[in-house]
Order: sequence, then C-alpha cells, then structure tokens
Amino acid sequence: MSDTAQSILETVRRVIGERDGFVPLHEPEFSGNESAYVADCIETGWVSSVGAYVDRFEQDLAAFTGVGHAVATVNGTAALHVALLLAGVKPGDEVLMPTLTFIATANATSYAGAKPHFIDSEAQTLAVDPVALERHLAATCEIRDGSCQNRETGARIAALIVMHAFGHPAQLDELVALSERWRIPLVEDAAESLGSSYKGKHTGQFGTIAALSFNGNKVMTTGGGGAILTNDPALAKRAKHLTTTARVPHRWNFVHDEIGFNYRLPNLNAALGCAQLERVPEMLARKRLLARRYETAFAPLQGVRFVTEPKSSSSNYWLCTLLLDRRDARLHEEVLETLNDADLMARPVWTLIHRLAMFAHCPRADLACAEDLAARIVNIPSSPNLVGPPGGVR
Ligand SMILES: *Cc1c(COP(=O)(O)O)cnc(C)c1O
Repeated sequence: MSDTAQSILETVRRVIGERDGFVPLHEPEFSGNESAYVADCIETGWVSSVGAYVDRFEQDLAAFTGVGHAVATVNGTAALHVALLLAGVKPGDEVLMPTLTFIATANATSYAGAKPHFIDSEAQTLAVDPVALERHLAATCEIRDGSCQNRETGARIAALIVMHAFGHPAQLDELVALSERWRIPLVEDAAESLGSSYKGKHTGQFGTIAALSFNGNKVMTTGGGGAILTNDPALAKRAKHLTTTARVPHRWNFVHDEIGFNYRLPNLNAALGCAQLERVPEMLARKRLLARRYETAFAPLQGVRFVTEPKSSSSNYWLCTLLLDRRDARLHEEVLETLNDADLMARPVWTLIHRLAMFAHCPRADLACAEDLAARIVNIPSSPNLVGPPGGVR
C-alpha cells in the first residue's frame, strides 16, 4: 500500500475514533420528535397527501431558509422538474448544468423535454465555474429576441442550473450576474445545501427558483422528499397547483385545469420532516465540528487536501471531501479500496453525466476541470454522530 493511502486511512481513523462495524458516508439520525409526530399521523389517520404537518413543514422550511415560500414534494427530482417548468423550460430548449452533479439534475431536465448542456466546474467550490461559463457563452451563444440561443444548435438556452456540490455554495455573485447579462434564468439545485449560506443568505434564494432534497442520505431526511423554494408568491402558487394534480380547489368537485403532477409530499413524511428540521441546527453544528477536525488532521498530510468551505460562505459540509494532489490522482482507486476495506465508506464523485450513454450526445463546453476533479475526489464518512451523540457538541 502507498504511504498516501495508509496515511489517509490513519487520519480518518484518528478523527472519528475506533468504530465497530461499517461506517457509512452519511447516516440519518432520529433523536427528537420523529416517533411522536409520525405516531400522531397514524393515530389521527392523516397519513397521506393532505394534513397539518405538510403545511407546518412548508412554513418551517421557509422560516429556516429565509426564502419566502416552500412547497413540499415527493422527492428532490420532482421538485427540480417542476422548478424547471416554472422557470420557463420548454421542450426543445437547452439547460446549462455542471457535468459534475447527481443524475437527478439531468433527468429532471429531460422530463421537461429539454436537453442538458454541460459546463465545467472549478476546484475551489467544486461548482459551476463562472469564468469558464462566460467564455463558453461568448464563444457559442448569442442573445436574440431577448433570450440566449446556442448558435451551433439553434436551441434556446432556457435555464442555468447551479448545484452546490456536497453543500459548498457556488460563486453566486458571479453566476447571478452572468445569468442576468445573458438572460438565462438561474435555478439552484440546492438538494445538497440545506443549511449552507452565501454571504449570510441561505442557498436557494439567489435564482428564480430552487429545489431541495430530503432523501435518506441528505443532511436531514423525510424518508423521501423534497421542496421547491421561491421568493415569488405567484410561482409558489403555481408550484403548489402543478404538484397537486392541478386541481381547482372545491369542496367536492374534481376539476383539473391542466396536466399536473401527483408530486405532493405525504403528511407522514412531512411529520418526519418537522421533527428533523427541529434538530437540523444541532446536527449541522456537529457536522461542522467533524469538518474542522478533518481539516486540522489532514493539514500536515502530503498529497491530499481536505476541501473547506469557500470564502464568504458557510457550508453544511454535507459530504466531507478529500482532493488528491494531481500527481497522486493515480492513487485514487487505491485510496477508495483502502478505506472501504477498513469498513470506512469512501466514494468517488458520481460518474460525470456527459460520460453516461444517454447523455453522451448532449452539447457541452470544455469539461477539463470537471474531469480532473472527478479523478481526484474522495468522499469520506460525514455523519453528525461521528462527533458524538445528539447534543454532543463539546
Ligand atoms: C439528492 C439530489 C437531488 C434530488 O434527489 P432525490 O433523491 O430525488 O430527492 C437532486 N440533485 C442533487 C445534486 C442531489 O444530490
């Protein structure tokens, strides 16, 4: 085994202490009112798509994120799908997005009938590179009839999806300015960044609309779930309507005024969400402490860097991330194998989306930095319980 792989293993072990059994990447934690609220749903019979917990969860989310309105959905992909429709994405359009993201970003775009157009990421935030994007737009696109068009394909560029990778906020000032200059609505895929803020403002309020996810491996979970965030009351109303089968409210008649979606979050899941959200600040505090311990422990190590929150940002450190030095990229597989063999879950970043067969023919910019990052990223165990029990911040 190389010295680098061995030192990384020892360093992770030193930070999280000796553990019995397999240590997952991110484990959910239910230490508050979860059982009580879920039992309440069962006892009252309000388990499905209507109920007081859904309304409360939406209000609590808006309050926590500081965004005007939250609409709860069955999962983050559904939230992203409807967010794109509401941002104006139509069949035949192209949607700019990082190739370095989870598959949901590209899938949701496809559900809207649009095509992903892949752009590069940068090494500080691991998110979309505004400088490379501007260069790419200048070389390949133009503004015609008030919207941005791809000169090569003739398609309209209908949205720019910015994803805050592993919870680290992207360079939002630059990306917002770019979206305005190029007349491309900005949509935040904030699925990974609940609790992360940029210049004091929670992620999810920098664009037209945003999506969150509460899948089991995220910072907090509703089992499966997601939410649409927007400051625009009209868009929020449309989001609720579209995710509720576009039913026209009436005491007994079932009338639908367009083809909507059954994308509502069940009350049972919302109950779990209300309880989890009460615990989020404390879970985030322990995750920050874990990140600080990793940062300190990895600082003296050669060949690897622990990715810290970008300047002007506060990250939720959803997944703690190591970046191997370029000359040690050849050790990537060995590091992954060494950690997993020791029952410490470690993972490379998702396969870049432009490399997957169904998205291989989509338009794209130069993706050199994303390729370089993908060859060097290692996610390491990131659960709040690795710092101690609930309430365990010392
Ligand atoms: C988790 C995630 C989503 C949404 O996933 P769901 O499992 O549908 O909730 C979307 N985008 C990114 C980047 C994600 O990590």
